[in-house]
Amino acid sequence: MRQEIYMAREIETKCIHLEEAEGALNHFGAMAYPIYQSATYAHPGVGQSTGYDYSRLQNPTREHLEKTVASLENGIDALAFSSGMAAITLMMELFKPGDHLIVDADLYGGSIRLFNHVSEKNGIEFSSVDCHKENVAAYIRENTKAVYIETPTNPMMNVTDIKALAEITKKHNILLIVDNTFLSPYFQNPLNLGADIVVHSGTKYLGGHNDTLAGFLVTNREDISERFRFLIKTTGAGLAPFDCFLIQRGIKTLGVRMDRAQENAIEIAKWLKEQDIVKKVVYPGFKEHPGYEIMKKQARGFGAMLTFELTKKEYAINILEKVRMIKYAESLGGVETLITYPMTQTHADVPEHIRKQNGITDCVLRMSVGIENVKDLLNELEEVFAEVRGE
Ligand SMILES: *Cc1c(COP(=O)(O)O)cnc(C)c1O
Repeated sequence: MRQEIYMAREIETKCIHLEEAEGALNHFGAMAYPIYQSATYAHPGVGQSTGYDYSRLQNPTREHLEKTVASLENGIDALAFSSGMAAITLMMELFKPGDHLIVDADLYGGSIRLFNHVSEKNGIEFSSVDCHKENVAAYIRENTKAVYIETPTNPMMNVTDIKALAEITKKHNILLIVDNTFLSPYFQNPLNLGADIVVHSGTKYLGGHNDTLAGFLVTNREDISERFRFLIKTTGAGLAPFDCFLIQRGIKTLGVRMDRAQENAIEIAKWLKEQDIVKKVVYPGFKEHPGYEIMKKQARGFGAMLTFELTKKEYAINILEKVRMIKYAESLGGVETLITYPMTQTHADVPEHIRKQNGITDCVLRMSVGIENVKDLLNELEEVFAEVRGE
């Protein structure tokens, strides 16, 4: 009975209360879960354990965070890593030389770099496929082990139907892996739609304050969880206790942050669309966005990331140089509004022909809208755009 009440809880509540810790007054009733800054743990007797032996294997602060993230994504297990890339790197250890993966053509630049320069050297083969429009089944080979996607993608906001893709991967008995960083569990839960593994850069919306790097792998499969636990113990990129505390603290406000950031993003996207020096605004919350209907079906929101194309390269560069409160910086998902140049920053290491094919030109800027008062954001943009136009 109690369990059913827990299951019915909404995500805003789950961000604040870990169900299994409910009612207990452990840790002197501390409201914030304590930071267990300990590398090792004393044993009560020979062959006995307190449940914790060594912090590379498990740490109470990390475990609390991992259980929280598992509950937000409806997974059976989540593992916390020192960065998003550390999480993806460990995930690649599921595969062996000769295995083939289908990966979305438009991905976070760091993921493409990892696949091209590290995984390929380790004998993994890749096919880069536009998963939102191509028939993924046609690329499946005998040695294909997984499909790896983001939706919406970074930075071009392509939307893939997760459920439809999961039907294909399940039929062929291969894994579906979804990087859910852009929407966070607040807006989208890929495991519910048939994915096997969810990846997060916890640095982004989960942490939410641009102050801590973190990454997560979440799964609802017992066999994968077991393998991940073995791998994290063996390779040792688990998130440090203090950083776990910071991410846990960030997650408590995930819901209000995402709601506000999205509200602001919609206002700014509409404003950008009216500007004469803007050629195109890509935001999946616009009805004319090709992924709009799928987003409405599979997500609870459209997020706070938007990409826009200026009519000239000089405009793009001048905007980056003239912003003040809005910062020209990489990364996303924090309380501060950031604007970046995918061409030279996040996607600099992506081969030029792929960049072109994905529409990442020198006129394209990406904005991660924060939670400032939208009037101040719009005032700054009005000023910057006027200066850029030479008014
Ligand atoms: C930032 C990011 C990553 C990498 O995460 P880090 O925490 O920076 O290592 C992976 N995927 C996406 C979509 C990202 O935005």
